[in-house]
Amino acid sequence: YFAFSFGPFIGFWAGWEGARKLGALAISGGGQSTSQRLKAIIDYQATVLVCTPTYALHMASEARKGGIDLALQSSVRISVHAGEPGASIPSTKKMIEEAWGAKCYDHPGATEVGAFGFECEPQPGGVHVNEQEFIAEVIDPKSGQAVKEGEEGELVITNLGRIGSPVIRYRTGDLVQPRYQPCECGRPFMSLQGGVLGRVDDMIIVRGVNVFPSAIENVMREFPEIEEFRIEAVQQSALTELKLTLEPGSEYASSAGLAERVSQRFRESVGLRPQVELVAPGTLPRFELKARRFFKS
Ligand SMILES: [Zn+2]
Repeated sequence: YFAFSFGPFIGFWAGWEGARKLGALAISGGGQSTSQRLKAIIDYQATVLVCTPTYALHMASEARKGGIDLALQSSVRISVHAGEPGASIPSTKKMIEEAWGAKCYDHPGATEVGAFGFECEPQPGGVHVNEQEFIAEVIDPKSGQAVKEGEEGELVITNLGRIGSPVIRYRTGDLVQPRYQPCECGRPFMSLQGGVLGRVDDMIIVRGVNVFPSAIENVMREFPEIEEFRIEAVQQSALTELKLTLEPGSEYASSAGLAERVSQRFRESVGLRPQVELVAPGTLPRFELKARRFFKS
């Protein structure tokens, strides 16, 4: 089931064609509301869900509000996610898996090059680059030199096989950590540890600590009470401060102490003390495609 509007965002078009090529019955969620999609997934007994990680969580939250337990009432056993790094962020992955009672897989790609990565069944904590189709290099974004195994760098992709738009040494802007050890699954392909770690230009330095939005999301998703959130890096004189806006789900009306608990967990995990503000349910925007939760000002 493709919970996707079939608009200009290219991500799931290729997934749709791939499913058809496998001989799978592909069901379109185009032009439907979230509640219609939930009903279709349950009625048609869809076994695989394809959508962004954010939208998988949004559907789960809408289902809960309607008294539906997707882990029990849907037949979904696998979920495949693209468009955002969420499925490789451990707490987000866990949250999707628990809500849907399914195994969650990351499938990173970029519009310019296609879907270059996938998680294999053993899920050793990263994604493989499909080296049958792509030549991958990982470079220091400043010097342009290749980084060593285990170091972070920018992913550069060459895809000579893509019909119509081959690319040579395309700088994806994605920050990754390469690993070349053999994988349990038997594939010889290189791995990107932790999936796509963030965008090269999204890294912020707060009080000397390097922080990526994905590390912040990892903390946020440990709290089932938080339905949506927003991260702001605010420049105050010479210092950058981090501000988190949290929106609890309406079923968690008594969210007393939530801000303090998040702030505490944040100090332990990221080593920073952010400003935390709670807002009423329904305040922050929701996303079907690429979620925009990170702002610099
Ligand atoms: Zn593998």
